[in-house]
Amino acid sequence: MTATETLPTPTIERIRHELRRRALTVIARENITPNMIRITLQGEDMDSFVSGAFDDHVKCFFAEEGEEKVMRDYTPRRHDAEAGTLVLDFAVHAAGPATEWAVNAREGDVLQIGGPRGSRRILGPRKWLLIGDETALPAMGRFAEEVPADHAVAMIAAVRDASEEQVFDSAAKLTLRWVHRGTEAADPAPLLAAVEGLELDEGTFIWIAAEAGVTQALRAHFTDNGHPLVWTKCAGYWVAGEADKTVSFD
Ligand SMILES: Cc1cc2nc3c(=O)[nH]c(=O)nc-3n(C[C@H](O)[C@H](O)[C@H](O)COP(=O)(O)OP(=O)(O)OC[C@H]3O[C@@H](n4cnc5c(N)ncnc54)[C@H](O)[C@@H]3O)c2cc1C
Repeated sequence: MTATETLPTPTIERIRHELRRRALTVIARENITPNMIRITLQGEDMDSFVSGAFDDHVKCFFAEEGEEKVMRDYTPRRHDAEAGTLVLDFAVHAAGPATEWAVNAREGDVLQIGGPRGSRRILGPRKWLLIGDETALPAMGRFAEEVPADHAVAMIAAVRDASEEQVFDSAAKLTLRWVHRGTEAADPAPLLAAVEGLELDEGTFIWIAAEAGVTQALRAHFTDNGHPLVWTKCAGYWVAGEADKTVSFD
């Protein structure tokens, strides 16, 4: 039994939101790194938009192929209720409708989004370890910006190379380690090497989001080392070789 196992289990607060489709206009587009496109959206439809957790997601709708709706999940990176704006960060990879849309997006373009359908807030932990790849950076950046000052946060992020590193502001004590992994985003080895031998403080909550096989390997590493599953939240934000596929490890 680890010391963490003897602590009260973290509470997951589930909040439901009105499910509504919104048509939003692109008001800004910038490359925050060579392969990360930041899109700022605005529109009257933003009234009543709520995103209660750092790892919420909206569905973005792209051109419909016949009867089939084409949609992908993206994290509300930043929401300004007063200005009615929503920021989404798109990690650029070889191909896919979402990537293609973001690469070609221009001010004035309209993007339809749905959700978030709900938020799951993790209550209790004050020590955090967040691990992810480029697709997790929007959630990790938002976490850094929103976490209270009395929390201790460690992050390990795998990106292609140093040019993909971002700077996150945080009131909390934040350590952020970048792993330069090259272009093989579905290889768990670089992140596994980064967590090997890592000493976790008692009561550390681990959040992982990356390619599904990478997430699975990291999750197994921590559970094999005795970290309780209820002190983890793990997701496969994409699956190598499969379009529009996500995996939840709950
Ligand atoms: C809850 C949640 C939140 C997410 N938030 C974000 C976010 O804020 N920003 C973000 O960029 N992504 C995010 N993602 C991941 C994103 O939804 C997927 O990467 C999605 O597959 C991209 O769609 P696409 O149309 O570009 O590619 P798809 O058509 O889905 O896939 C085409 C091909 O590309 C591969 N592929 C997909 N994503 C990647 C990638 N990142 N790197 C390399 N190959 C890839 C697939 O395996 C497939 O072979 C999130 C996923 C989830 C589940």
